[in-house]
Amino acid sequence: MDEWFSIDKIDNETYVISEYKHWEETHCYLLVGSNKCLLIDTGLGVGNIGNLVEKLTKLPIEVVTTHVHSDHIGGHKYFKNIDVYDAEKEWLTSSFPIPLDLVKLNLLKEPCDFPSYFDIDDYKIFQGNPTLILHNNDYINLGNRYLQVIHTPGHSPGHICLYESEREYLFSGDLIYAGTLEAFYPTTDPYEFMQSIKIIKKLKINKILPAHHNLNINTNLIIDVVKHLITFIIPENLNKVMVRLHSIILKSIFDNEGT
Ligand SMILES: [Zn+2]
Repeated sequence: MDEWFSIDKIDNETYVISEYKHWEETHCYLLVGSNKCLLIDTGLGVGNIGNLVEKLTKLPIEVVTTHVHSDHIGGHKYFKNIDVYDAEKEWLTSSFPIPLDLVKLNLLKEPCDFPSYFDIDDYKIFQGNPTLILHNNDYINLGNRYLQVIHTPGHSPGHICLYESEREYLFSGDLIYAGTLEAFYPTTDPYEFMQSIKIIKKLKINKILPAHHNLNINTNLIIDVVKHLITFIIPENLNKVMVRLHSIILKSIFDNEGT
């Protein structure tokens, strides 16, 4: 097994595949259905997530992209069936919004125990054709599991969360996670972000499964974020909001831990 990745189980049919050796601590999720498996994001593209997933299941794999940022599409190159939200399909096929040099700088930003086979000079941003274009409220059917696509723009224009109502899981991508936001993409929009949080707030959620950092996120976090955002978001302050947002999330977690 490739030591770059860590694998844990959320339940008997749901794995989390994590890249803890990198400062971004990216998580991908493998959902095992009766007909096929869904892989939510493919990480940085440092290790071979294709080989790893093959060892976990023999079922066909469909990859779904929460958003087209380099830390979520790195392993897309190992898969044939790729879903992406309509608003970001061009980023995937031909016009990724950030230059490769900047992506590499971000990858190397903090010391990291990269595997010996990894060479930063060979690192490329995935560009390829999706096999399915997603729209808001589409369902992905795994036979016995259904994932609802929820368009949650803000972090990026075509960002989606995936909601599994039966288990009350929210795969939140970069909409909700605990940690500092890396808002180096110029298309991040705090106002849209707030609207998306409000949409998510209406769902019945038992577990938030984020794309980065701590896996034990208190679901009350969403309510706290909304409460604070309403106070903070006034138009002239929009640029400052995203930075403050994640410190609020972090603070909220620590507050909740004490109660
Ligand atoms: Zn990310």
